[in-house]
Amino acid sequence: MFDQLADGVYRRRYESLDLNIGVVIGEEGVLIVDTRATHVEADELRADLSTLTEKPVRWVIDTHWHWDHTFGNSRFPGADIWGHHLCRKALVERGDSMKQDAAAWLPDRMREFDEVVITPPTRVFEDAASLDLGGVTVTMSYHGLAHTDADIVVTAGELAFFGDLVEEGAPPVFDDGYPLSWPGTLRRALDVGSITIVPGHGDLFDRGAASTQLEEIEAVAATARRCIDEGLPVEDAARLGPYPEDVMKSALSRAVELHA
Ligand SMILES: [Zn+2]
Repeated sequence: MFDQLADGVYRRRYESLDLNIGVVIGEEGVLIVDTRATHVEADELRADLSTLTEKPVRWVIDTHWHWDHTFGNSRFPGADIWGHHLCRKALVERGDSMKQDAAAWLPDRMREFDEVVITPPTRVFEDAASLDLGGVTVTMSYHGLAHTDADIVVTAGELAFFGDLVEEGAPPVFDDGYPLSWPGTLRRALDVGSITIVPGHGDLFDRGAASTQLEEIEAVAATARRCIDEGLPVEDAARLGPYPEDVMKSALSRAVELHA
């Protein structure tokens, strides 16, 4: 089921990876935010879209380069694919190794990942860009390092698709992240002023829930600072929370490694 969030704006929450896909329908065509984790999942999305509108998908926006958001790109050959320039760079340079990462995550689907045709964004920007869909404008903005080096915010009216800058139903993922920069980036992203936030995974966020997550990520950053500045061992610091120990360990060791 597509949830209508505003006039012409929808999201669909898929059980696979609890991923959210955004849909914005303008007079000139359809824009989608993220394309799911494989070509097979993207084909399912295309079939689902046909129940919503007969208009063609003319624009795709990748919120960031992670495989679960971009590996369906190849199934929208008629669309301009937009993303941050570092999103394109990552997919061009490391797309093939991302396929191995994905297969390691979901080994049962190794063959499916093997068949993915890496399709990086063809339209890129550094700070901001906007698209006129006919009667509705969609904006993209970049606010700095956070969950990856290429997270962008996509807005349509008072709604914003945040990719994995925030995460609902599970802790944020720091494996490719920038724990010390993330709070400032998220603060700037929230300054865009959106009322309702669609995370990359899970349920919708209001600004209050997003602020709570910002405080948690600030706590992670403060602990990471202590590891770097005071030599607090990651093993001990990982027990301080606010997230489970394995998540903290990933965040803190990543911060220490980036600082080295
Ligand atoms: Zn991600």
